[in-house]
Amino acid sequence: MSATAEFAIYVHWPFCKSKCPYCDFNSHVRAAIDEDRWRQALLADLDHYAAETTGRAVTSIFFGGGTPSLMSAPTVAAVLDRIAKRWPLDPAVEITLEANPTSVEAERFRDFRAAGVNRASLGVQALDDAALKFLGRAHDSREALAALDVARRHFERFSFDLIYARPGQTVAGWEAELERALALAGEHLSVYQLTIEPGTAFAAAHARGDFALPDEETQAQLYETTQARLAAAGLPAYEISNHAQPGAECRHNLAYWHSADYVGVGPGAHGRLTLDGRRIATRQFRAPETWLAAAERQGHGSEERVVLTLQERLEELLMMGLRLAEGITRDRFRAAIAGEIESVLEEHSLTSLIVAGFLSLDEERLAATAAGRQRLNAVLTALLG
Ligand code: SF4
Repeated sequence: MSATAEFAIYVHWPFCKSKCPYCDFNSHVRAAIDEDRWRQALLADLDHYAAETTGRAVTSIFFGGGTPSLMSAPTVAAVLDRIAKRWPLDPAVEITLEANPTSVEAERFRDFRAAGVNRASLGVQALDDAALKFLGRAHDSREALAALDVARRHFERFSFDLIYARPGQTVAGWEAELERALALAGEHLSVYQLTIEPGTAFAAAHARGDFALPDEETQAQLYETTQARLAAAGLPAYEISNHAQPGAECRHNLAYWHSADYVGVGPGAHGRLTLDGRRIATRQFRAPETWLAAAERQGHGSEERVVLTLQERLEELLMMGLRLAEGITRDRFRAAIAGEIESVLEEHSLTSLIVAGFLSLDEERLAATAAGRQRLNAVLTALLG
C-alpha cells in the first residue's frame, strides 16, 4: 500500500461536563484536571509520531472528544504550534475543533480562531428543547442558535450535528426541524440516526422499556426524508450521515474514509501509518489517567501497534470506502490491496449485490448505491463472507 497525499492528525480530548446517555465515546467527567500536564503529554505524543512521519505534509487536524471546546485556547495553540514545528502544513490545511454549543464555550471561539482553528463542528443534536432534554444535553435550542451565530462569525467553515429517529418523532416533525436546520446551516451538516449503544445509560433505559425507538418503517422514512430534503437544498449526502455542498466535505473525515494515513494522539486515539510498505495500526491507552501516566513515563501514550494483514486492509478499505457516495476508485483499491477489484472480491457475491441494486461497479470505481449505504453492514457481510 502506498501512502496517499492526505495525511491527517487527530487529537483526542476525553473530558465532558456531563455524560450524555446515548454516548459510547471515550469521554469522561472529572471534577478538575491539571491542564498543563495534559498539554505536555499531548505534545509528547505528537513528538513520538513525528519522528517516524517526518516530511509528510499535514492536510487536516481534528480536535475531537470528549469535548475539545473545554480545552483552553493556549492548549489548542500549543498543540497546533507543535504540529507546525514537526511537520510541514499543506497550504489548505483544515483545522477542525468539535464544540458544544453552550454560551461558555462559544465565548472561546474567537481565541480558538486566533490559535489557528479554521473549522468548527458543533454538537447541536436537536432544535427542540424536549428532545435536547431527552438526549441529556447541557444546552437548549436558544443557546445553540446563539453559539451557531458566534461560530458563523469566527470560522470560515462550520458544521453542526443533528440526531434523528428519536422516540415519538414523526416524519412531519422531522421535516419541520430540518427546515429550521437548513435556515441555520452553512456548507456542511452531519445527521445521525439515534442508535442504542451497549453499556450506555440509554441501553439500560431502553432495556427497561422506558422508551422505544420509532419502528423500522418510520426510521427508513426519516432517513429518506433527510436524504431528499438536504439534497434538494444543495447539501447532498457524500457519506451515510454527512452532507455538504460539493467541495465543502470534511477533509479530515475523508482521509479516514479514503484509508489515508493519520496520526492519533490522546487517550484511546487510533492511527494508521504506512511505513516501509506496511500498514500499521496504532492505538493509545484508552483510560485518560493511564494514557497520561504512560506519556509522562515513556514519552508517548501508545499501547499497541500492529501490522495489518492483507485481509484486514481489504476489510478496512471496503468498510470505510463504501460509506462514501463516491465509493472506492480503482486507483485507490490498487494502491491499498495491490490487486484488481474483480480478482480480489468473490465474483458471485459482487455480481449478486450489483444485480440487487446495492453496489455499482464501472471503469472508475466500486460504490454502494443509496440503498446499499442504507444497509451497509449487510452489504459488507455479503461481500466479505
Ligand atoms: S458531549 Fe459528546 S462526547 Fe461528551 S458525553 Fe455528550 S455526546 Fe459524548
